[in-house]
Amino acid sequence: MKIDILTLFPEMFAGPFTSSILKRARERELIEVNLVNIRDFSINKHRTVDDTPYGGGAGMVICPEPVFGAVEHVAALRGSRPGRVVLMCPQGRPFNQALALDLAKEKHLVIICGHYEGIDERVRENLVTDEISIGDYVLTGGELPAMVVVDAVARLIPGVLGEFSSTGEESFCEGLLEYPHYTRPREYLGMAVPDVLLSGHHEEIRHWRRRQSLLRTLERRPELLGQVVLTGEDKEIIKKVIIDLQELI
Ligand code: SAM
Repeated sequence: MKIDILTLFPEMFAGPFTSSILKRARERELIEVNLVNIRDFSINKHRTVDDTPYGGGAGMVICPEPVFGAVEHVAALRGSRPGRVVLMCPQGRPFNQALALDLAKEKHLVIICGHYEGIDERVRENLVTDEISIGDYVLTGGELPAMVVVDAVARLIPGVLGEFSSTGEESFCEGLLEYPHYTRPREYLGMAVPDVLLSGHHEEIRHWRRRQSLLRTLERRPELLGQVVLTGEDKEIIKKVIIDLQELI
């Protein structure tokens, strides 16, 4: 996947994109990340890219020309118009695993990072296909949100996680939170690993993990359960939990 990130602060990406799994994915050419400095497309000799808002008010707004120029540049570089142009925006669609999976199908993504008060509305109206928010809070710029999106999307691209992990059983994959994990030692400060995980009995381990997933979701994010297609086994597990709880009351 080719990802062009349009930003005023390309240097912010150095750490996350040159470490660990993303670094390896880039080296193996599973993802190509191209940082485009919006300032390079300023149309004035002072290389400014922002201006005061029409109508007054605090802060500066990024002008449309450099952003349009940067998008034209990446379209020329790639030889075609990008399929998806994502604007990082606190007013956008909330980012989640389903949206990450959807974006991971693309061959080419453009991500625009706003800054200051944001970007001239004409960019959103004419260039942007998706507006994405990483949460209901306001950050200083779209750079951290873009890193979050790239990380979540990149790890879904086949081959990126390699031997490190698989995405099939993770939290949100089937709409449930994942079960707890344990590793050596078997006992630590008097706390033992659940016996079932040491039993070698694959079916019992699978059932225990499913039950833990359901319990965790019920306890921490019950609203997620409404969107999950529950199996017969899941319904039995939940019924048993309810009976156990009733016995306690
Ligand atoms: N004035 C804007 C508003 O009230 O909606 C906020 C602008 S914010 C200070 C500057 C930039 O940071 C935005 O243009 C966007 O690119 C990015 N940003 C801030 N919070 C974000 C969030 N929760 N999700 C995605 N992008 C965000």
